[in-house]
Amino acid sequence: MLQLPRDAPGSDVCNRSGLPLLAICPNRHRRLIPFRLLKIREDDRTPLYGRPFKCKACGSPEVTLFAIESRSELDAIQQAMAEPKQAAKAPTTHPRPDPDKGLI
Ligand SMILES: [Zn+2]
Repeated sequence: MLQLPRDAPGSDVCNRSGLPLLAICPNRHRRLIPFRLLKIREDDRTPLYGRPFKCKACGSPEVTLFAIESRSELDAIQQAMAEPKQAAKAPTTHPRPDPDKGLI
C-alpha cells in the first residue's frame, strides 16, 4: 500500500490496472474508492485530493488516500474489512494493568 501525497496529481494513479484507492479517515474507517469514480485520465494534472472525498461512516472529509499495489493486496484489504468489527476488540476478562504502577 502506498500513501498518496497531498499534492499528487490525478495522473499519478492512472495505469494501476483499475485497482481502487483506499481511503482512511481520522477515525480509521476504511473505504475502497473504485477507480472509475475518480474520472481521471493520464493527462490529468489536477490534484487528486481536490476531489470531494468523504468518509461514508462518519462524514469526515479528512481522508488519507492509499494506492493499492496488487490484486492480492486488494483481496487482503477486502477480507480485513469484511471481518466483524467486534472481533478486533473483544472484551477481556483480565483487568488492565495499572498504568501508574511502578512510577513511584
Ligand atoms: Zn470515518
